[in-house]
Amino acid sequence: MILRAPAKINLGLDVLRKREDGYHEVKMVMQTVAMFDTVEVTERKEGGITLETNRSFLPTNENNLAYKAAALLMNEFNVTAGLHIRLQKFIPVAAGLAGGSSDAAAVLIGVNRLFGLGLTQKELMERGRKIGADVPYCILGGTALAEGIGEILTPLPAIPDCSILLAKPSFSVSTREIYQALRANELTDHPDIDGMTAAIRAGDLDGIVRRCDNVLERVTAPRFPVIGELEREMLSFGAFASIMSGSGPTVFGIFPDQESALACKAALIGRPGMGRVFATVPMEGRRF
Ligand code: ATP
Repeated sequence: MILRAPAKINLGLDVLRKREDGYHEVKMVMQTVAMFDTVEVTERKEGGITLETNRSFLPTNENNLAYKAAALLMNEFNVTAGLHIRLQKFIPVAAGLAGGSSDAAAVLIGVNRLFGLGLTQKELMERGRKIGADVPYCILGGTALAEGIGEILTPLPAIPDCSILLAKPSFSVSTREIYQALRANELTDHPDIDGMTAAIRAGDLDGIVRRCDNVLERVTAPRFPVIGELEREMLSFGAFASIMSGSGPTVFGIFPDQESALACKAALIGRPGMGRVFATVPMEGRRF
């Protein structure tokens, strides 16, 4: 069974406060985009889980989120058969695109189907939460408001048609480090997430792009000037808005059409320090 695991971007990302237990309370607008890893799950006669991936630096044991997801369900349901996971990564790793969480989500869906466990989407989302805060969203997909630590989800209507350009500088950042550097309880200027969800409900692209803002850029932009440079470049090619996704360093631009996104892509590709540049579109959620 082969499943697609799409990337996500954050159209808006706010951190409300740091809780006493160390977790950050967030308010984010999530959007799935058409950039995929593929996850193939196959039953094996021999018990146990094996995993292979095209990214040699990733773990192939329980430290891989895809493995962890399979182990969680198979242990709970005492599945005695074995499982082989073939993970073809295409989404850049540690990039702010939730690739690992999406792989885990795809494995939960795949294992549920493969072994006929009969779990509903909601039940899978509850299990996903144990693997990571973004996993329940990755099971849902589409456009959604995420609150709490990211696990309280409100589905939103699809955003109006547009093109999206993703540009990932060649370095990676650690989500944990960025959150640690953020003085969440001292922030005064917060993104207007309520205004953005209202604009999404109204199908108002102008209202959406005017409110694209990611509070984590207050940490990353001064550290990595390339983030601001990419944003300015995207705007100069006609992007309505350009911000960083998640904890970065991927920057995305929302363009009126594919032509302007591709023109910007051509200008960015091959620059020193530039990693992947990928033109894509927003995607709707999963049908269950
Ligand atoms: P987010 O947007 O949720 O912050 P991200 O894009 O920053 O996610 P990921 O690519 O999901 O980050 O992975 C971050 C870390 O998780 C990596 O350092 C990697 O070692 C580990 N990891 C474990 N399993 C996977 C996987 N299947 N794919 C990618 N990374 C994985």
